[in-house]
Parts: sequence; C-alpha cells; structure tokens
Amino acid sequence: MSLSPKRTVAELQELRALTGDENGAQRVAWTDTWSKARDWFAGKVKELPTEHHYDAAGNNWVTLPGASEKALLIGGHLDSVPNGGWLDGALNVLAGLEVLRRIVTEFHGHPPVTVRLVDWADEEGARFGRSLLGSSAFAGTHSIDADRSRTDRDGVKLEDALRRCGIEIEKFPDARKEQKNAAAYLELHIEQGPVLERMGLPLAVVLGTKGVERHIITFHGQEAHSGSTPMNARRDALAAAAKLALEIRTIARRHEDAVCTMGSVKTFPGIVTAVVGRCEVTLDQRDLDANVLAQMYREAQEASHRFAAEENCTVNWSRLWSIEPVPFHPHLLDLCEQAVRETSGTSHRMPSGPLHDAAEVSRAGIPTVMMFVQSLKGISHNKIEDTKEEHLEMCVVALDRLASKTMDWILKQR
Ligand SMILES: [Zn+2]
Repeated sequence: MSLSPKRTVAELQELRALTGDENGAQRVAWTDTWSKARDWFAGKVKELPTEHHYDAAGNNWVTLPGASEKALLIGGHLDSVPNGGWLDGALNVLAGLEVLRRIVTEFHGHPPVTVRLVDWADEEGARFGRSLLGSSAFAGTHSIDADRSRTDRDGVKLEDALRRCGIEIEKFPDARKEQKNAAAYLELHIEQGPVLERMGLPLAVVLGTKGVERHIITFHGQEAHSGSTPMNARRDALAAAAKLALEIRTIARRHEDAVCTMGSVKTFPGIVTAVVGRCEVTLDQRDLDANVLAQMYREAQEASHRFAAEENCTVNWSRLWSIEPVPFHPHLLDLCEQAVRETSGTSHRMPSGPLHDAAEVSRAGIPTVMMFVQSLKGISHNKIEDTKEEHLEMCVVALDRLASKTMDWILKQR
C-alpha cells in the first residue's frame, strides 16, 4: 500500500458518521462514543503487523518494531469537545495511520527505526476541565492529587469515570514507561485560527506553543447611589477595569504574535442604580517568548495600578494558572520546513496559541515538532470546523515526508 491521502479523508468521514450527530463530533473522552471511536480505530490497525496496547493513563499505542529500538512517535487525539469538529485531533491520528501504512509497505514490515502511533487520552479536558490528561501522565508533569476529585457536570468523579474505562488514576505514573527509546515526536494539527487562510497558505511549521499567564484582577472602589453621588466624588471600580481592558490591547500590539484577552467582567453590586464598588476581571496573556510574556505581565500590572489610582480605587491580582512557553526542536523545525516546502512550494513559521499534546511531549525532553494545516474561517471546537479537501490531502503528504526525514535523522544520532 502506498500513501493514500484520499483514504485519510474517507476515514475521517467514516469516523464522523460513526461518532457525530447533527450538532457535530461527540467523542468526549471517557464516554461510550469515545470508546466506540477507539474500537473503530483498533479495527483499522488490526490489518497492520503492529503491537497494540493502552498504557496506564489510557493512551493508545500502536508500535511497529524496527531494526533500531529508537522510536519515531506520531500522535494525535480521537477525543473531541461536545458538539466538536470532525478534524481536531482525529486528523492527526488518521494521517499518522496512513503514514504508518506507507512505512509498513516500504520496509516490508521492518523499518530501520521503530515507529509508534499514539492516540492520547483526553486531550480536550472537555468533561472534567483538565486538558492534556494522557500526555501529561506520559510526560510525568501530571498531578494526581489535584485531579483525583474533579467532577463532571453530573457530579461523576474523574477517578470513577476513569475506572469505568479500566484506568486507575494511582497508576498514572506508569505511563512514563512509554518514553523509553522515544527519539522524536511529530504532530499534525488543524490551525484552529485564521492566519494561514488570510495568508493564502495551506501548511505551516509550528515554532512551539505559547506560554500562558492567567489572572483574576479585582478593582475595589466604593458602592454608591447612582443618583446622589457627584461624578467627581466617585470611586468607580468598573471605570478602572474598563481602562485596563483597552490598555491590554496596546500591550499585546507592542509584541508580534502576542495576545492578551480580558474574557470575563463581573461587577458588584451589579445593579442599574449603583456605582460599581468592586469589579473582577480575568486576563489571559500568551507569547512564545518567556521574556515577552514576563514583560507583558509586568506592563499589565503597572497599568492596573495606574488606572486604579486615577479612579481612586485599589487593585489586587491573583494567578489562576500559568505555563511556560514550549519552543520546539530546532533541527526538527528545519526538517518540517523542508517537508512543507517540498509539498506546498512555500513555507511559513508560526507559534501555536492553543496548547497541544506536543507541548507535554516536548517538556519530557523528547525532540518535538508540529505542523499546521489551514482551517477554514479559523473556526474550531464547532461543527462547522473544516479544511479544504485538497489541503487535507496535502498535509498527509507533508507529514509523510517529515516522518521519512525524521527517521533518517534518528538513524544518524549516536
Ligand atoms: Zn486538538
């Protein structure tokens, strides 16, 4: 069997018909529909001379042993958000499957290096609010105690949902064993944003995943009657927050590729007849450069104090969550660029705003790179998520080229 990108498109459509409905993909991790998708995938893999198992965190490994134990890893995730798109995660897995088939044929089942395809468990975190669950167990960055007691909307505990699928959260650290002999990791993904479509490019090399600073910022003023309090006597917490909401755009624009978002604003008492006494906002800042990220954080803090003073208010910050930027491997970036250029005639490098399993694999010290394929309208996590069929076929070819180049690179390492 030589590489058949059309088969990847057909299999994506097959999976959509099997696990989607009129609202989109329904492959939420740890549900019956997800298991159905994984069983379907296991049926596809059965035709290959590969070993197949689930690790301690529920990641699904398909291994084609090679002359060298050093392994090329190719990954994705079959799970989706509720009412999700047909490509997010599944494209990576099914394109990887097609590459694996080509390698089986070319080397008569015995490639020079071991090749492993992985379907990560619960990338989306859609049900329990914990993204990258399986890949973080693999990387050893997972914190069992923080996650054990998470519950879904119906009050089901993460621990119990996992047990129903045969996974004991206590055993999660055993997933690290799968790191053995891992020499490189490749992940293809839809862009999930509008950049490539705007540039008229089908494919891109992903430089890394952006670091994130996520905070709650609370401005304190004075609740007061909206009729009796003169304008110059007010301590309006919303006014200070509103100034910051505009300022974070200026802060982000000072740095190419940086983004800052104020996604939530809550006012107290939040009634039409009172000056806002307390205003809580959230800030999400992202950049690939740790220094830029730290600088944007300082700039936002400084601005918040300035606006609080201007409005006769006070302000305090509390960190919700943060993660450092994860730049991908320099040599694999070059190989990915070659593969993209050979396939599409042109190449572009860009950071990823969203996090991906590749970030966890890279944090485990395994040389990693990702490739993006254009998303139509930049929409994802939605049933209208789509990519042109010609671009889907192109990305399978490019991933295949990258896999060959990476196998050669692994062989050269001593
Ligand atoms: Zn994804």
